[in-house]
Amino acid sequence: MTDVKKSSMTIAIDGTAGVGKSSVGKAVALKYGLSFLSTGQMYRCLGWKVLNSGIDVDNPEAVTEAAKSIVWGFERQADSSLKVLIDGQYLGDKLQLEEVGRAASKTSAIPEARAVIMQKQIDLGKKGGIVMEGRDIGTVICPEAPVKIYLTAAPEARAVRRVKQLEEQGEKPDYQNILASIISRDERDSNRAVSPLKPAEDAVIIDTSALNLEQVINKVLEAVAKVW
Ligand code: C5P
Repeated sequence: MTDVKKSSMTIAIDGTAGVGKSSVGKAVALKYGLSFLSTGQMYRCLGWKVLNSGIDVDNPEAVTEAAKSIVWGFERQADSSLKVLIDGQYLGDKLQLEEVGRAASKTSAIPEARAVIMQKQIDLGKKGGIVMEGRDIGTVICPEAPVKIYLTAAPEARAVRRVKQLEEQGEKPDYQNILASIISRDERDSNRAVSPLKPAEDAVIIDTSALNLEQVINKVLEAVAKVW
């Protein structure tokens, strides 16, 4: 396959929270000159908008209206990732707040609100030239993607990584709290009625518990090489 074709391919990466999908996805996107989108950013933007406008996260109609009203923007960064703008605004670190993550997890389980965001993602996937990371990319958003990766890791391994990450940012995280929050988010994401987290039938499943980032990236590149 020529590089022109490679630069138009779509790669789907799914998996549990905190498994390293973004780091892996960015590296793979850079390697092939693709854009990288962390689709959770869009759900986090909706979560933030709902919290910030005083909308009740448990009110499906109001959350859906908020989703419909969003004007999205995407700006490609030097590291290949698409910076997501909501109503012309970049929210940066605010999107990583625990409360925004919780709101995102709840609002993304509302079928009508989810459908609005999914349509935007489906359009981006169809254009191609993109690595998309999320929970339902291989199963629902880009079922035609030639490469589908599903990353998984034991909750304890992910909690240890998250604690390390937060400590590096000067915080003093509590391991048990982080572990409990990872487990409850997994449960919510896996058991919801719409787009539950699960591997596509033809996904390459990689357990990253005992692998470092470079090893995971190499496994993804191997999967791409098998297709091209
Ligand atoms: O991946 P991230 O943790 O940023 O995602 C935030 C929340 O958005 C997740 O807890 C999940 O509920 C939701 N999400 C989703 N589908 C995706 C990506 C994220 O439902 N494709």
